[in-house]
Amino acid sequence: MSKILILPGDGIGTEIVSQAVKVINSLNANHSMDMNLVHGLIGGIAYDETGSPLPDETIKTAKDCDSILLGAVGGPKWEPLERSLRPERGLLGIRSELGLFSNLRPAILYPQLASASSLKAEIVSGLDLMIVRELVGGIYFGEPRGVEKRNGERFGINSATYYESEIARIGHSAFQIAQKRGKHVCSVDKANVLEVCELWREVMEEVSKGYPDVKLSHLYVDNAAMQLVRDPKQFDVMVTSNLFGDVLSDCAAMLTGSIGMLPSASLDKDNFGMYEPIHGSAPDIAGKDIANPLATILSVSMMLKYSLNQADLAEKINIAVSDVLDQGFRTRDIASGEDKVVGTNEMGDLVVKALES
Ligand code: NAD
Repeated sequence: MSKILILPGDGIGTEIVSQAVKVINSLNANHSMDMNLVHGLIGGIAYDETGSPLPDETIKTAKDCDSILLGAVGGPKWEPLERSLRPERGLLGIRSELGLFSNLRPAILYPQLASASSLKAEIVSGLDLMIVRELVGGIYFGEPRGVEKRNGERFGINSATYYESEIARIGHSAFQIAQKRGKHVCSVDKANVLEVCELWREVMEEVSKGYPDVKLSHLYVDNAAMQLVRDPKQFDVMVTSNLFGDVLSDCAAMLTGSIGMLPSASLDKDNFGMYEPIHGSAPDIAGKDIANPLATILSVSMMLKYSLNQADLAEKINIAVSDVLDQGFRTRDIASGEDKVVGTNEMGDLVVKALES
């Protein structure tokens, strides 16, 4: 039996996670899986109900589970709160508390959706790249930080910091993933300007010695951004720091044309993971039954592959999603021309039907 913590969160979180739960229930019923679901609170709803965006109870339950499925957090209702109480703090907090340092963000373009990309179809069609982003270090967590008074004016400070052990462990993640893919890691840094990136590059070279079957190359982040838009198919696995990964992975996501299609995984050293769509809580469309649930359903596929050792079932979900797209069904965000537009709920039902057929 696997115990899965379900954290729907805010906005469209509840709607999209409900569709993923239908998929899990179908796997339990038809593929002798035994995924036991427990529900918890995170984000704005957790603040409303407990006064904290990350209640202790959620962390306690998470530590007792095999995996976590998260919807999304945040919304305008909670923006006036002081920073430490905001929903997004819950998300940073759970990643950090559970040591989820390795963030895998695939950018895959389904051939059926090639026209949804803003790039020419020949540049993006068949795109399948994996960004491995360091998630619990770097400038998002480095000290000192803050805004203070210096020389009679306000002065803002953040610190980009990495221990070599933090760089090495994300390096190992990237190389091990590349071994199961195209055997090429591109490490992205800014070593021409930043000392912390010089160390990053040195450690990546050291780690690479343990993976002679994988090629390592390096790019400065400005060039990497340019190459992602010029010729994204040159990449197999990109590994980079927290800040650079945040920016580059959103850019890569948009190459595929739809933020509603892309899942992600955040893993610890033992492949315990939290799985979530890359998009946010989309308050503008919450409660309207129009959100695309496929990124969340594909997050279940990643969970089966990376944490639950069920690569075959993971592939079944991917194929079911592809089948539904082949049949011309689309949620509004990915629809064009003759497509059959369906709502969030119906899309979930269609994937379950494809899975069971
Ligand atoms: P967003 O990703 O929520 O939405 C951006 C745009 O994409 C919106 O137009 C939205 O309608 C659309 N969209 C997003 N997901 C979609 C889906 N599944 N189907 C169809 N359309 C979809 O980003 P935002 O508007 O910048 O942020 C909204 C809130 O989400 C903020 O509070 C932000 O802090 C939070 N946020 C949370 C996460 C997370 O939980 N991991 C990530 C990013 C943003």
